[in-house]
Amino acid sequence: MTMNDQEEERYSRQTLFDKVGEQGQEKLLASRVVIIGTGALGGNIANLLARSGVGFILLVDRDIVELNNLQRQPVFDEGDVGSSKAEVMAHKLSRVNSDIRIMSRVLEVDASNIEEIIKEADIVLDGTDNVETRYVINDACVRMGISWIYGGVVKAEGMTMSIIPGSTPCLRCVLPKIPEPGSTQTCNEVGIINGIPAMIASMQVTEALKYLMGKEVSKGLALIDLWERKMEVVEIDRNPNCPVCGE
Ligand SMILES: [Zn+2]
Repeated sequence: MTMNDQEEERYSRQTLFDKVGEQGQEKLLASRVVIIGTGALGGNIANLLARSGVGFILLVDRDIVELNNLQRQPVFDEGDVGSSKAEVMAHKLSRVNSDIRIMSRVLEVDASNIEEIIKEADIVLDGTDNVETRYVINDACVRMGISWIYGGVVKAEGMTMSIIPGSTPCLRCVLPKIPEPGSTQTCNEVGIINGIPAMIASMQVTEALKYLMGKEVSKGLALIDLWERKMEVVEIDRNPNCPVCGE
């Protein structure tokens, strides 16, 4: 698959970057990505991936746009309040890039539907806001051998890790059990500033681009405190007794 003139112009600044090049761009155009959640993380992810020219993007979210979302969730505007997040985002990003296909599904992801949702994905991007859904994603991705990129944000803090089944640790190697309900903080309880989802989403997207272009992804759990401008990467080993990816 080679690019036409419009694609060459559209992605010219990205292909100029020597880590991407025309070959990398062609791989992106042939790639399929599923983004679960289209709020602050997922919206930033979708915005960047659509502009980067990932050829097929599926957006999955059951929620509708609320006024308090506009503070941190990109793409949406005041006229979208009350509409489906996934549908609005697919519609608007299709106007940004009509050379790619962007689909939406309005539903809640759970263990009963996850396999069908992600089965054709080259990679899954985590834009969710709760631990339970992340375990559903993790367990299905590891079982199916599909890579996924975890991301989580709250207050001014965020985390991200790339999970490549068979190669890296999985989410349950880090956290074997789902924490008790209420034991983890959510944006609804402790708030969030809008820079941190943009930052974590940028890291998730960059790792996804590397993976889709056949390059090695960065290892370890990246932790950022944006308020204190601190970042560290914690090396994590695979747990041989992991209930999902262990032997
Ligand atoms: Zn594991």
